[in-house]
Amino acid sequence: MPRNSGTVTVKPVPGEVFRYQVESWGQRTEPHIVDLLAFDGVGACSCKDWETTCYRNMKRQLGYRDDFKISYEDMAKMAHKLKIIWYGTTKDKNPARIICKHNQLARMSSSNYLTREVARNA
Ligand SMILES: [Zn+2]
Repeated sequence: MPRNSGTVTVKPVPGEVFRYQVESWGQRTEPHIVDLLAFDGVGACSCKDWETTCYRNMKRQLGYRDDFKISYEDMAKMAHKLKIIWYGTTKDKNPARIICKHNQLARMSSSNYLTREVARNA
C-alpha cells in the first residue's frame, strides 16, 4: 500500500557508478534500477514505462516505426542522437518522454550530489 506522502527513496547502488535504486510507487519492496550511463547518458530503467513508452519514443526519435525491432546494442550506438525528453509529472506525463519517473528522480539525485561535491571543492 503506497504511503500517503507519495515520496520514494532514491539510493546509489553501492560500487556502481551512476546506478540508482529507486523505490517503486507500486511495489515498495522491489525498487527499480536506473542506469544513468546507459544509452549515451540517456539512461535506462527496469520499469515497465521505460521498457514500453520510453523505448518506443527513443525509436520514434530516431525515425523508426513502433513495430520495428531494434536491439539495445544497436540503440546504444545511435543514442548520441537522442534528445532528452523528461517524464513530466504524474498528473501531466509527457507522451514523448524517453526519461521515466525513476530516471528523472535518479538524475535529480545525481545532480544534487555532483552540485554539492563541486561546491565543497570550489
Ligand atoms: Zn523507471
